[in-house]
Formats: sequence, C-alpha cells, structure tokens
Amino acid sequence: MYTKSKELFERAQQSIPGGVNSPVRAFRSVGGTPVFMKRAQGAYLFDVDGNRYIDYIASWGPMILGHAWEPVVKAIQEYAVFSTSYGAPTELEVEMAELIRSMAPNLDLVRMVSSGTEACMSAIRLARGFTGRNKIIKFEGHYHGHADPFLVKAGSGVATFNIQTVPGVTPGVAQDTLTAAYNDLAGVEQLVAAYPGAIAAIIVEPVAGNMGCILPEPGFLEGLRAICDREGIVFILDEVMTGFRLAPGGAQQRLGIRADLLTYGKVIGGGMPVGAFGGRKDIMQHISPLGNVYQAGTLSGNPIAMIAGYTVLSALKANPGIYTELEEKTIYLRDELDRVFRAWGEPYRINQIGSMISVHFSDHPVRDFSSASGANNELFKLFFHSMLRRGVYLPPSAFESWFLNNALTRTDLDATVRAAEESLAELNG
Ligand SMILES: *Cc1c(COP(=O)(O)O)cnc(C)c1O
Repeated sequence: MYTKSKELFERAQQSIPGGVNSPVRAFRSVGGTPVFMKRAQGAYLFDVDGNRYIDYIASWGPMILGHAWEPVVKAIQEYAVFSTSYGAPTELEVEMAELIRSMAPNLDLVRMVSSGTEACMSAIRLARGFTGRNKIIKFEGHYHGHADPFLVKAGSGVATFNIQTVPGVTPGVAQDTLTAAYNDLAGVEQLVAAYPGAIAAIIVEPVAGNMGCILPEPGFLEGLRAICDREGIVFILDEVMTGFRLAPGGAQQRLGIRADLLTYGKVIGGGMPVGAFGGRKDIMQHISPLGNVYQAGTLSGNPIAMIAGYTVLSALKANPGIYTELEEKTIYLRDELDRVFRAWGEPYRINQIGSMISVHFSDHPVRDFSSASGANNELFKLFFHSMLRRGVYLPPSAFESWFLNNALTRTDLDATVRAAEESLAELNG
C-alpha cells in the first residue's frame, strides 16, 4: 500500500534531516512511514502509490477552498510569464494590502512577509521597539513559528515531540519569554504584577490550534485586552491559523475582539509562502523605512505568492457564504463523530469552532495545554493509522487542529464518519 512512500522516505533520509522539511510531517509521534504526495485535487490527496485520501489538514490550513482550485492555478500561470520576482514594488502588492485591509479589522498598515514565523517575529520586534520593553507573554502550547523567542513551552511540533527546552535558544532570549496557561487570566495578572513596566506584548492564538483545537473561554480574550489597555502592553493576536478561516475578518470578527497588532499566514497565501503583520498606525509607523525597527525581505510581496493569495481572499470576500457552508459541514462532521464516539463508549472530547475541529481521547474538558497533554495520545496514534488506512488523512499528531476545506462533500463527510466507526471498532478489537 505504501511501497513507493517507503522507498522515498529511505532515500529522503540520506539527504534531508529526518527525511522531511518540517518535523511533524515525519509521522514520528504516530509512528510509521510518512506518505509522500504526488498531487491533490479538491478535497483529495493522492500519494505516490496511487492511494487517495480525504484531506483534513488542508496543507495545515491554507487550502480552504480545496486543492488545485482552478482560479488560483490559472492566475499563477498567467503571472508566471511576467517574471517570478522583481525586487521592486508592484501594483499587485497595493491591491493585496487594500484587499486585506478591507476584510480584516484594525489593520491601518500591513506589511507582507513570506511565512507565519516571520510575521510573528517581526510583530514581537516591533512591539519591543515601540514600547522600549523586553519581555513578552505567550501561552503554553501556543505556536507562533520557530523564531527563538517563541520556542518556550511551544505547541505544534515542539509539543508533539515533547521538547522541554530547545537547544540553541539562549537563556538570555528564553528569559524574556514569560508563559501562562491558556484560558488562565489570573496567571497573566500574576506575571504582569511580577514584572511591572517590563512587558512589551502579549501574543495569543485567539483560538488555539497547535495543541488540537481549543476555544477561548468567555471573557479570556476580553480580559487580556483590558490588561493590555491598562498596562500599555501591545496586544498581538496571532491569526496565522484563524485569519480568513473563521470569518473574512478572522477571529477578531468572529469573536468580537480588537488587537493592536495582527499576524497572518496560511490562508492569506492561498498555498504559497506568504505571511503578513499589521495593525495600529502609531505602532506600525515604527517599521522601517518609516521608523527604525528594521524588517525586510528579498522575496516579500512576491508576485506569484501575491496573486495566489489575492485570488483566494477575493473569492472569500465576494462569497462570505463559504464560511456558513464550511461551518455547516464541520458541525455535521462533529455531530456525526460525536454519535459514533458515544456509541464506542470510551472517553473523548470534540472541540470545534468554524472549520476547525479536533478529537481528544480525554475524559476531561480540553481547555489548555495540560489538559491536552493529559489525553490518551496512544489511542490517537492507533486511530490516526486506522483512519489513514481507510483513506482519511488527519494531522499526524494529537497536538494539531483539523481543517476542513470547502471542496468536501456530504459524501466525503459520511465516508469519514464510517471510517471513524470502523477505526473505533478496530481499537476495541
Ligand atoms: C503555522 C503557524 C505559525 C507559523 O507559520 P509558518 O508559516 O509555519 O512559519 C505561527 N502561528 C500560528 C498560530 C500558526 O498556526
């Protein structure tokens, strides 16, 4: 079933660390051989051995309209012949910035970069430059990319591989990153009291998606907003996952929350390497060349990346009904999974908002990193492989959200639920 993938994985390990260019892809936490992909269309992935999978990772978020969506493919083809990069400004970048601003609230100025990591590290540098303070607060199990200041109690692959401290991150850097538990406002208040006038920014995933999908409890984000207002701290919403996914205006719109700075990635590039950060004008005008907080990129605003992102975002803006459809599909999946998991009889929790969903094999509510880690991730491994064998591609870690794409049909969802029912029966057997 996986002959060619196995061969490729052997070969890959001769030249690429662990055989992959991003760690979670290696399947280490679920075991087995990663599946090498050949192509994808709509809601389906096709691997090198000719197996088909219903896709629930959507390239970890970006492919919200499905794979190889024709308008994106055409736009890339059309623009590629003009040159793939200029290193000089283009009209397309102006149009992209205007489109983003017309969709996402509170973005007076926005700067394009090439990844979510870059967006978050630039936002932190800017917050520090703006406030003249050094420390930041982040949350356990939250992931803001692989830049040094974020690799303290981080989510995603760092949590998947249970890496407590990341070698190479100096103590000097790590000591400026303070951590609190997600959904624990009192913990944040304690940090703020312990380091008066020293905290530049609070950065948070409004909906956590890098330890499974975990929703903010009522009042949590509002409480962070109030602390930031009171203490002159820059409030950064990391919308790399939630931006353009939970609503045209992301989590800010969906949850009714206002950030000072915002970071984007994933959906914003329509499958190309794109990120962005932006926000309040009085803060953003400290970025070079307006101010002295330096930030730059040879390929920032790359025309091929811009046209892919622009094409997807303008489709989402023109048809916000896509969000209703996506949410209806996700709720249908949630309710059907709930039915088969309940019949199975062992403890589980399903968290869902919009088109983000995850299942934890847990007997307690999953509301922060410690409750996510307390779930039975051995069961998740078995469940993951059972689903994969039945042609359903879930994220290969319990510490990741699943993402629905709008190419999924009711038939696909029903097939997924049937696969889950059979997989759970297999777990019992
Ligand atoms: C994926 C992710 C990032 C990092 O984005 P990259 O493009 O992988 O660098 C940052 N923040 C959040 C919330 C993410 O999910």
